[in-house]
Amino acid sequence: MAVFHADALVIRSREYGESDRLLTLFSREKGKLQSIAKGVRKPKSRQRAGSQLFSYSEFLLHHGRNLNTINQASSKESFPHLWNDLDRTLAATAIAELLDIATIVEQSNLELFTLTLASFFLLEHTEPTLVQSAYTLRLLNILGYRPKMGQCPLCGSLIKGDRIYFSPEAGGTVCGQCRSSERGRWLSAGSIAFIRQLTDVDLSKLDRLRWNSRMQTEIIEGLQLYCEGTFDRSLRSWSMGSKLIGEGAGLQTVQRKAGHDDERSVVDGAGEN
Ligand SMILES: [Zn+2]
Repeated sequence: MAVFHADALVIRSREYGESDRLLTLFSREKGKLQSIAKGVRKPKSRQRAGSQLFSYSEFLLHHGRNLNTINQASSKESFPHLWNDLDRTLAATAIAELLDIATIVEQSNLELFTLTLASFFLLEHTEPTLVQSAYTLRLLNILGYRPKMGQCPLCGSLIKGDRIYFSPEAGGTVCGQCRSSERGRWLSAGSIAFIRQLTDVDLSKLDRLRWNSRMQTEIIEGLQLYCEGTFDRSLRSWSMGSKLIGEGAGLQTVQRKAGHDDERSVVDGAGEN
C-alpha cells in the first residue's frame, strides 16, 4: 500500500522549507494524516488549489513512516465563504484545532469525518459560533466524552439553581458538595439549557436556535475549558475567538487573497506543536 487514495479536509497548513507545506488532513478512510505537499508554494504547482487550508479534496498520497507525500490533490469544495468573514474563519480554525487535538493519526472515524464536513458546509451560512459549539458537543459525544449537564457526575444528585458549576475534571456540572477541588467555570441555568438544545438539535435546524452574547461567551469558554481539560492540550485559536466575542473588535488575520486566493493562512491560529 505504498500509494493510497484519501478523501480529506485540510485542517492544518504550515509552510515548510523553500516551497513546501506540511498539511494535516482529516480523511474519510484513515482519519488524521500528516503529510507534505512538495513544491506546493511554487506558482505553477498543480496541487495548489486542492491543498489549501479548509479545502475538501481528493488526494493521492505516498505512504511514509512519519509523513505521507502528496502526489495529487484535486479540490472538491473550497468553502469560499469561510474566508469572506472573520468570524467564520475563526470558527473553522477552532473546529480544525479541536479535531486535531482530539484525535490521533491514522485512526479512522467516519462519523467524525462526516460531522466535520457537514459543519464546514454549515459554517458557510449559519452563525459560526453556534456551529462551533454544536460541533464541539457532537465531537465529545462521538469520542465518548459527552458532558453530563444538570446532574452531578460524582454523586448523581440533580443540580438546580441560577448558576451551576461546570467542570472538565468532573465531566459536567458539579453539585455544591462535590465542588471543592474541581477546576471549572460557572454557567447560568439558561446556558445549561442551551447546551442541551445544542446537543440534541438536528444540525439542519441549528439556525433556528437563538442565544444572547452572554450565553455565547459562557458556553464557548465553558466548552474550551472542558475540551482543554479532557484532551489535556490548549486550544489557542479558541482564546483568539473568545477575545473577539468579548471585545467585539477586529483582529488581524492574514488572508493573502491577492486576487488569486492561493495562500490561505490564519495568523498562527492553530498552534505550533
Ligand atoms: Zn455531587
